[in-house]
Amino acid sequence: MSELREQLYRTPLKLSGYVSGRFTAPTGAEEIDVIDPATETRVATLLESSADEVDQAVRAARAAFDTGPWGRTTVAERQVALNAIHDAILDHADELAMLETINTGIPLTQTRGFHIPRAAQNFRFFGEYINQAGGEVFTQEPGLMSLVTYDPIGVCALIGPWNMPLGLTAMKIAGALAFGNTCVVKPSELTPLTVTRLFQIIEGLLPDGVMNLVNGRGQVTGTALVSHPGIDMVSFTGGTVTGAAILQSLAKGIKGSAMELGGKSANIVFADADFDQAIDAALMSSFMNNGQMCLAGSRIFVDRKISDRFIDSFSRRVKALKIGDPMVAGTEIGPMINQAQRERMERYAESGLGEGATLLAGGHRCANLNTGYFFEPTAMLAPGNDLAICQEEIFGPFAALQLFDDEDEVVAKANESDFGLVGYVWTDDLNRSMRVASGLRTGTVLVNTPIVRDLRTGFGGYKQSGLGREGAKGSQAMFTEMKTTIIAREPRKMPRMGMAAE
Ligand code: NAD
Repeated sequence: MSELREQLYRTPLKLSGYVSGRFTAPTGAEEIDVIDPATETRVATLLESSADEVDQAVRAARAAFDTGPWGRTTVAERQVALNAIHDAILDHADELAMLETINTGIPLTQTRGFHIPRAAQNFRFFGEYINQAGGEVFTQEPGLMSLVTYDPIGVCALIGPWNMPLGLTAMKIAGALAFGNTCVVKPSELTPLTVTRLFQIIEGLLPDGVMNLVNGRGQVTGTALVSHPGIDMVSFTGGTVTGAAILQSLAKGIKGSAMELGGKSANIVFADADFDQAIDAALMSSFMNNGQMCLAGSRIFVDRKISDRFIDSFSRRVKALKIGDPMVAGTEIGPMINQAQRERMERYAESGLGEGATLLAGGHRCANLNTGYFFEPTAMLAPGNDLAICQEEIFGPFAALQLFDDEDEVVAKANESDFGLVGYVWTDDLNRSMRVASGLRTGTVLVNTPIVRDLRTGFGGYKQSGLGREGAKGSQAMFTEMKTTIIAREPRKMPRMGMAAE
């Protein structure tokens, strides 16, 4: 067991909010246990931010935006600040990776290798991007010049999920700050460790009030934040049902939003694909991050011509995945985030079998792991696309396979979904890959590659997977107001009204 984990077990952290450059010390706050899901042990107590504290945080961000120095900083000054945050994250990378693993159950190799470097990279990327991001000028109309510029939008409420707490929240913070905004951040109440630690390790790098933190449950702290009249927009990553509730709340104040929501992404494997690559990617897309990924490609469509070989190989490898303590090197699957999530796995396993699917692997709690919210990585072969396991986001280590015979059929089936986040295509035929990519109704298509996140491109979803895009131009659209300024370059011809008086 790591020293850090033992220390947290002995002396759980006390977590609070951070307002106007100081950690808060709320008295009488609701106390929420934060748990290590691998051992069911408390690692922190979260002092929930009340509506009053949310109000203070929004006022601090408002003041910092309206009258503070941040709005007057040069691009170069903002770049210095963003690079300093990047460096601070990397200076604490090992500690942050361990905290993320202790809090989420995601294997340390993944938090260390991907989550934390990605969190840091977001700040460096947006620091570079704002140097080049410009507006537009139109001069086609004689005598006129039209300018399109992008002003900061103001106070951003940034709400993150539990499945990649620091990495996904850092993306929002970096984008919001880069374009000159101030923010109030709310991490998931299940996984507040790393985001709260970020506020400690960057203390002093930004003017007071630019970056504030509230901590607490969605129904209490989250609703107080999204309904606060002082915010200008919400950037949210989380479930589709929560996203819809937030949109309703924002409608009252006609506030903008960006929504990164759920997914049920199709992973299409044609017979001509590189078999080994396609199998490796199918495992990775279904089981990395303990399967708790919005962009999981766990709705796997297999060309009937290779189905025997694919199913045999896939099932054997799912059964061989190493489940256990996520802090131990070599562990491939850790625990589910909590008991409710594990029960969800059980319900989907039952529902799959009840609706006629064939169990290929897993399907149960781990018999040899009595403590911790472990669930066996699971694969089922579904007889049709309408089963709940093929249509609903399970958000765990659960792959649903289906067979197909031709290209049009599989594209139509892939699109038969309320979601439209990602589509994965495996084929050696370039023309086919282009046809399928253009036919898929998803925000991202990945051809012959598992998950790749290129920050220069937008990430987001069609349909119920979201609104807006994160990354470069998408984040610029999210965190700015587009302003049009039209300037006359010579006296204008116009009707001279009221000339009767002359
Ligand atoms: P969730 O919707 O339960 O919670 C997300 C956040 O919203 C948490 O911080 C929560 O406290 C807060 N919240 C809950 N109710 C709220 C309310 N009424 N008002 C304001 N805030 C509220 O989601 P989760 O379970 O933490 O995350 C899993 C979901 O996130 C999955 O559906 C997954 O697909 C999605 N996700 C999407 C992306 C993406 O980029 N599209 C990335 C990661 C996760």
